[in-house]
Formats: sequence, structure tokens, C-alpha cells
Amino acid sequence: MNKVLIIYTGGTIGMVNGADGVLVPFNFEQIKENVPELARLNYQFDVHSFHPVLDSSNMDPEIWKTLAELIYKNYHLYDGFVILHGSDTMAFTSSALSFMLENLAKPVVLTGSQLPIGEIRTDAKENLITALEIAAKKENDSAVVPEVCIYFDAQLFRGNRAIKYNSEKFEAFRSPNYPILAEAGVHLQFNSNYILKNLGGTLKLHTNFNANIGVLKLYPGITKEAVEAITASKVDAIILETFGSGNASTVAWFLESLRSAINAGKLIVDISQCKKGSVQLGRYETSRILQQIGVLSGFDLTFEATVTKLMFVLGLGVSMDEMRHLMETSLRGELTAG
Ligand code: ASP
Repeated sequence: MNKVLIIYTGGTIGMVNGADGVLVPFNFEQIKENVPELARLNYQFDVHSFHPVLDSSNMDPEIWKTLAELIYKNYHLYDGFVILHGSDTMAFTSSALSFMLENLAKPVVLTGSQLPIGEIRTDAKENLITALEIAAKKENDSAVVPEVCIYFDAQLFRGNRAIKYNSEKFEAFRSPNYPILAEAGVHLQFNSNYILKNLGGTLKLHTNFNANIGVLKLYPGITKEAVEAITASKVDAIILETFGSGNASTVAWFLESLRSAINAGKLIVDISQCKKGSVQLGRYETSRILQQIGVLSGFDLTFEATVTKLMFVLGLGVSMDEMRHLMETSLRGELTAG
């Protein structure tokens, strides 16, 4: 019988109404009570619960490390892993884990819900049961989805391609720049062409993340002070959120701020404020200059994947050239270059 480890971190899925009517995370026992179907599955599962359980707004790289280590230590004991997690920062955690777990050959499926499991109209039961099924699924003794992914509202997304898109609908996630990996209807339909292939190699754990990064989101009228608050700060890398296909102002003081930041040893990665599409440095004059001064292309990376990839790459302890190369290369299927 296949075996899955459920890691319960918290989130709406297991929340109950607290004394003053606000939703607070609660223990896993009440999840079990609300899903009697768990006793009828044709695979086994164990549960590891966080203490205390969290609203995912409190997630951070230390907790990602705990999660990755938990998977690493239990890797040989289970066929797959399901992480119950708040939806708010789920896409950051799934992206982070994709970088932390190199050569993954088993599914790590994150899920949660928009309504608590105890509510009559909850979306939690289907999300949980199907996530378990995906985590346990094998064909010819190999996992069908050997990657970190998010299952939500009948769709399976690559973890480092997903974004939380909607805070009200059950359809909370989207993957604007990569096709869904599977869809759950009457049948579980896997899009095997888009699922990462396991190329062998042993699982490698990377937990040394460097979170010393900054974000500079551009808007018409942004002041020199606002730009320099980031470019002249002590961060090691900057995510530059630009317009359209990666364009930014060509005003001299702005370009000079970026140039000095790069000369001071900072990585600057250009991602677009558009959710769909890719950065194409050099397509317009307004992005060609960025390329010339050494700004890196984030191509079609999500913001979540850019944050976690930078933390991962900065923590590797490799040369500046190597970091620049890695940022523009797909490491876990997180970007499409070109
Ligand atoms: N605030 C909750 C969390 O992210 C929302 C959710 O679970 O959907 O923990």
C-alpha cells in the first residue's frame, strides 16, 4: 500500500471561529473528524502537525527550511507528501521548496482551502482528498508527478509557476505562464507532457537561503528618493518590477542608480508587472539600456518564484558570474527563457 505523509502547517483549511469571531488555526483532529472519507482511502497516511499551527502570513525561510528537512528526513519512508498550508503565501512556499529539494522524484503537493473544513460549503474536502490521491499516485513504480505542486479547485499547478490570484473564489490560484499539470473531473487527467521528468540522481537538500533582497516596483512619477531607498540600501539583490515586456524609464538619474547598485555587487532581476507574458530585454529601447547596464532578465518568472530563487541562489555561495547565469536559467521548470 502506498504511503503519504501529511504535513499540517495551518491555514483556513483547519481554522475555526475564535472567541471574538476571527478565524484562527486549529488542530488536525478536527480535520479528521470532518473528513470521515479519510478512513476509506486505499493508501496509508501519517500526519505531522506543526505546533503551533500558522496563518500562512507568518511563513518565513526558517519554516521553509523545517518543511524541506522534514521531507528530506522522511523521503525514503513515503511515496508522496501533502502539505496543508494557508493559501495566502502558499505559492511562495511551493516555489521555495522546489529550489530546496533538488532531484525530487516524489510528489510534494500543497493544498488548503478558501473555507474552513467544518463549514457546510467547504472546498477543503475535495482539495485534501484529491491532493492525497495525486501524492500517492504511481505508474510503473514511479511517481506520476515528481515535483512540488499546488492542488486547488480541481487543478494541479507547478509550484513555482502558481500565483494566488483570487481571495474570494474557490479558484484561488492561476498559473499564467505555464499549463496546468492535471485537472480533476470525473477522471484525474494528467498532462504528462508538462510534468517534470525525474532524471535520476539522489535528492539534494539546499536550505541556506539568503533573504537579504529588496523589491522596486516602478510607477510613473517614482521619485529618486524612493528608488535610492532600495538601490543604495544594503540588500544583495533587487527585484525590479517593470512595465510590459520589461521596460523602465530611461531618465539618467534612474539608470545611474541601477548602474551604481550593480557596480556595488547587487543582482538586479527584471520581472514584469504583467502577470502573463515574458520580459524581453532589448525589444524596446527602454529595456535595451537595462540589459546594457547588466540588469538580468527574469523572463516569465512569477514574483513568488523570483523572491525564492534569489534567496536560493544568493545562499549557494557561488561566484557572481555563476549567480547571474543561474538566475537566467531554468533550474526547476520555473521559467521559459528566450
Ligand atoms: N489567511 C489564510 C492563510 O493563508 C488564508 C488561507 O488559508 O486561505 O493562512
